[in-house]
Amino acid sequence: MRKKTKLIHGGTSQDPYTGAVSTPIYQASTFKQNGVGNFKYEYARTGNPTRESLEKLIADLEGGERGFAFGSGMAAISAVTKLFSAGTHLIITDDVYGGTFRIMTKVFNRFGIETTFVDTSNVKAIEEAIRPNTKAIYVETPTNPLLKITDIKEVSEIAAKHDLLFIVDNTFSTPFWQNPLLLGAHIVIHSATKYLGGHSDVVAGLVVVKDKQLGEELHFIQNSTGGILGPQDSWLLIRGIKTLGVRMQEIEHNTNKIVEFLTKHPAVGKVYYPGLLHHPGHHIHRMQATGFGGMVSFTVESEKVALAIVSKLKYFTLAESLGAVESLISIPALMTHASIPRDRRLELGIEDGLIRISVGLEDAADLIEDLDRVLQLSAVE
Ligand SMILES: *Cc1c(COP(=O)(O)O)cnc(C)c1O
Repeated sequence: MRKKTKLIHGGTSQDPYTGAVSTPIYQASTFKQNGVGNFKYEYARTGNPTRESLEKLIADLEGGERGFAFGSGMAAISAVTKLFSAGTHLIITDDVYGGTFRIMTKVFNRFGIETTFVDTSNVKAIEEAIRPNTKAIYVETPTNPLLKITDIKEVSEIAAKHDLLFIVDNTFSTPFWQNPLLLGAHIVIHSATKYLGGHSDVVAGLVVVKDKQLGEELHFIQNSTGGILGPQDSWLLIRGIKTLGVRMQEIEHNTNKIVEFLTKHPAVGKVYYPGLLHHPGHHIHRMQATGFGGMVSFTVESEKVALAIVSKLKYFTLAESLGAVESLISIPALMTHASIPRDRRLELGIEDGLIRISVGLEDAADLIEDLDRVLQLSAVE
């Protein structure tokens, strides 16, 4: 089955009980047992048919053994981290999602999980960070907001050599473009709030694991700690995922046009997009993914100019988050990355005048006109 077909016919696709073409929302917390211990579903934290349908679908899309749905991307990341015990050390991409940095350094540190943040696009840096108690490598690729690329295959070889679990946050690429499990990762995580949901109307997290044993361990944690996704939101995600392919293709189409416009505009400095030939990691991304996505960052002269731009655009909504039908815009230094000290931010390359956009499904001509008008205004000021 090819990708676009799998989005529609993957997982269980239809309701096995009624034949309903759209998986029904089983709004039930418990299920009648035919006799003690004789049941298909027991209690909805342990399993719910709507959630299970979503979990089978994402497992299928990522090419894994078993999927899990959680109440948010952070609940998913939290559950995966609970696979590890006190005294364990994890190596993590240095510009991971801010919430991941926060949960590791402010929550899991209190439970004895140690972390080192390194530039995982440099595999040597990963190997140097390995300690006797290291148990996993956790990578995001592409990263936010500079779209840095890590070589998934190369990292999987290091993980295998040192007997480490290899976890990839695949939120930015989605299973439509990139399947880390097929490149040697053991666990894939998604903030399904972003492209998988795709309509800015659901907060959810998904995990897919490569083998049965990890599946059993993670189900034990999901059931024990309880951060599950409810049936309504599971249904919304199944619905969103059906159009993931057409959305991603159209978003990338729009993005290419916008990137072309930005790279030629005199008021724009650097443009960060993995699809650009000169982007560091372009060739690696090309090998491990089939698309470059809809996230672009670019620099303008100063924070003041960036603020003027984001306040005057008509079609780009000033908001955190990404991956929706509507185009979103943000200033990382003042928003998503404001908690990082300025010196460290600059070290990471997150300049004051950096703007990040998540390209949506509007007509690209309108988006470009909007950007053009505002960039001209900002040049006059
Ligand atoms: C948003 C995001 C998360 C967190 O997901 P939530 O659904 O907001 O909890 C994790 N990783 C990445 C890359 C994200 O963009």
